[in-house]
Amino acid sequence: MDEAVYKIVELAGSSKTDIEAAIQNALSRASKTIRNIRWFQAMEIRGYMENDRIDYWQVTIKVGFKTEDNHTEKKEIPPVEIKQNQKPQENKGASRYRCKVCGYIYDPEKGDPSQDIKPGTSFEDLPDSWKCPECGVGKDQFEKVS
Ligand code: FE
Repeated sequence: MDEAVYKIVELAGSSKTDIEAAIQNALSRASKTIRNIRWFQAMEIRGYMENDRIDYWQVTIKVGFKTEDNHTEKKEIPPVEIKQNQKPQENKGASRYRCKVCGYIYDPEKGDPSQDIKPGTSFEDLPDSWKCPECGVGKDQFEKVS
């Protein structure tokens, strides 16, 4: 029944204690910004030496997280309300922004119906509470693409 699609990001965690703690540190940090993490895979293990002793461990992991179902459903985009006396929003040349974590692109012409963001809303005008609809990270994880 569950035919989930996962997105994958790569992270490196480190710990002075051991490999497991290095992985847990990476996962704990990732959980703060990524929702629905389901699995991880350890890719590389490195150790750093200091005075002939292991100083700390670093483990690179891949993290798989489930994409949010509500975003894949096609929703009807509500029409833009333009009140009289209100100038249409000038969104010509408004930039698109890409999520550095999952690659989602915010297109101001489309807005984000999953979070009630009307078409024509520039990225700068999104509320600070807005999150990437794919992976849940905040606006600070986005970069301008056009
Ligand atoms: Fe994202």
